[in-house]
Amino acid sequence: MLIDHTDKVVLVSGGARGIGRTIVDRFVAEGAAVTALDIAFDEDDTAAGHVQLACDVSSPESVASAVRTVVERHGRIDVLINNAGINVVGSVEDLDWDRWRACFDVNVGGVFLLSQAVIPTMKQQRSGRILNAASFAAIVPSIGSAAYAASKSAVVQFTRVLAGELGPYDVTVNAYAPGMVPTAMNGFAEMAPADQDRLLDTLSLRRWQSAKDVADLLVFLASDSAGYITGTLVDVSGGKLATQIPSRAYEI
Ligand code: NAD
Repeated sequence: MLIDHTDKVVLVSGGARGIGRTIVDRFVAEGAAVTALDIAFDEDDTAAGHVQLACDVSSPESVASAVRTVVERHGRIDVLINNAGINVVGSVEDLDWDRWRACFDVNVGGVFLLSQAVIPTMKQQRSGRILNAASFAAIVPSIGSAAYAASKSAVVQFTRVLAGELGPYDVTVNAYAPGMVPTAMNGFAEMAPADQDRLLDTLSLRRWQSAKDVADLLVFLASDSAGYITGTLVDVSGGKLATQIPSRAYEI
């Protein structure tokens, strides 16, 4: 068995629902000591084999307190998964400033604050993994996604710089780009069938992505087997727009 996360201390932001919750469950199943951070948690709790801490990733105080709690309890942090994110939709002409700022505060600010908070611990350990949720939108954005796509592109560049800064400490930093996982964030599953078809037609693997596809990648990237991968954006989108008009293959 090359992948072994037994007793690894793993921190997952946005772990209350959606992809984050699946990541939490997956690392718990791999034997890790997982703490989920989420603004949706009312109070600190233990559930389904992991610890839940109330945390707003866009608040420096909230992030500092959560990371302090984890370090006090475990004495180390092996893996940070910056999964928390929000989607802000609207044309540039119509977007209001507060929504633009909220998108950057959570999607970029949250990644910055949590990464910064774990750096001293990971440097001291001379080991660690930081994994940042980007998006396919950072590769090819869609109409109405200026705030979200720009925030996810920022995550990619942030990832590259931090990978360089932490290389001397053997801490790796990578971003990953899911494609289309139906969750509360996007409402794909509730769309009219014709709209779902149009989206599915952009995929080489013409099916909705499951959160497990993302968790599987992260279990690998967090492992010793991925020790020489850093500063990258890993596309886990099922071949979204890997070719022009991928649906042609299904018509043959
Ligand atoms: P989701 O909306 O289902 O879950 C997001 C979680 O983040 C929620 O539990 C929410 O409470 C939490 N959160 C939001 N703001 C927070 C804050 N300020 N502090 C702490 N927690 C906060 O979303 P999802 O679809 O599971 O997406 C997870 C990540 O994956 C996001 O970063 C998203 O941008 C990215 N992503 C998702 C898809 C997709 O198809 N679902 C595609 C590409 C990228």
